Amino acid sequence: MTNQTTPETTPETTPETIGYFGQFGGSFVPEPIQKLLDELEETFNRYKDDPEFLAEYHAYLKDYAGRETPLYYAESLTNYLGGAKIYLKREDLNHLGSHKLNNVLGQILLAKRMGKTRVIAETGAGQHGVATAAAAARFGMKCDIYMGAVDVERQKLNVFRMEMMGATVHAVETGTATLKNAVDAAFGAWMNDLDAFYVLGSAVGPHPYPTIVHEFQKVISVESRRQILEKEGRLPDAVIACVGGGSNAIGAFSQYVDDESVKLIGVEATGKGLDTHQHAATMEKGRIGVVDGMKTYSLFNEDGSVAEVYSISAGLDYPGVGPEHAFFKDSGRAEYTGATDDEAVKALLLLSKTEGIIPAIESSHALAEVIKRAPTMRKDQIIIVNVSGRGDKDVASIKDYLQEHPELA
Ligand SMILES: *Cc1c(COP(=O)(O)O)cnc(C)c1O
Repeated sequence: MTNQTTPETTPETTPETIGYFGQFGGSFVPEPIQKLLDELEETFNRYKDDPEFLAEYHAYLKDYAGRETPLYYAESLTNYLGGAKIYLKREDLNHLGSHKLNNVLGQILLAKRMGKTRVIAETGAGQHGVATAAAAARFGMKCDIYMGAVDVERQKLNVFRMEMMGATVHAVETGTATLKNAVDAAFGAWMNDLDAFYVLGSAVGPHPYPTIVHEFQKVISVESRRQILEKEGRLPDAVIACVGGGSNAIGAFSQYVDDESVKLIGVEATGKGLDTHQHAATMEKGRIGVVDGMKTYSLFNEDGSVAEVYSISAGLDYPGVGPEHAFFKDSGRAEYTGATDDEAVKALLLLSKTEGIIPAIESSHALAEVIKRAPTMRKDQIIIVNVSGRGDKDVASIKDYLQEHPELA
């Protein structure tokens, strides 16, 4: 997709109109793609409140993905930290081990309505690729997944999982051979086959994707709101989630946005530290520009090209961020902070040791913020932290990390 700091084209819409969150969002794509996005928007609007569509979507969430996911009171972690009561929203218990399937199921059911027979997706660590491959297998669609060659090497097990489910995984050798290049390659493949459906994995990209992804991930907070009211009879004081592109966070925040008393906190990866160049702190260090078809905060090099970013967690090392989060940052509705590699690994180990739950390294960034914040809060206050995924995929890299950093073990 076009990556530059100044828009190449002016969208038909003006800020504050459809497809925008304040000044953020929009759609900056070539004409043939814009046509497809218009078609997708029309399909989405037709089905998003359609009882039959929703019944099918919720049936798959229940019987295929395994929802609803529990809201678990982490009593042992709470006692250890000695402050606010901590509840975990267990997205790690979804089929395939993360929140990604919520969105993929919604998009694939739209693709089915549109008569599509082939899906294309990009993937970084492979979690979105695995979810897309699974849903494509279920609905008998041809599936092409684009993944940087470096990530293919780093995430061999996920590549094999996708292939077992019938997907073709394309290793992208251009540039740094990571997610950024995979996005460009997947987009190129779409340009070459406009009949294919692009399954987008986070709350990013051109309109209507951020809106669609929000809609299909909001189930996280629809459930957690009902669950916390059942368990505590009141709303939480804070909801905390990690932010890569921002899909698990937008789903975790969605149903609390109008409740002023609920603090919403997004946690980005500050990698090896904000004073290094090895981080993915888009909100903290980025500036406004156009990346992957949307206007948002992003990390750029001095020459205006999109920066290489870094995090121990492959799911968080994305240079941009969803436009709704950019808007929440500027409006002050949500607060964005960061956690380093070290802090995330410590948090992963603490949850494993206190609760017997090994979280994904991505989710561990949110848990690192809980460790900082809970002890400063009263015992009658409540935090909900979104555990976006399980950590099985990270065990080998955590083992390596601890060998290099024995002081953390
Ligand atoms: C992909 C992924 C993320 C990051 O993506 P968001 O769109 O920001 O949610 C976070 N956690 C897990 C477990 C993931 O797989």
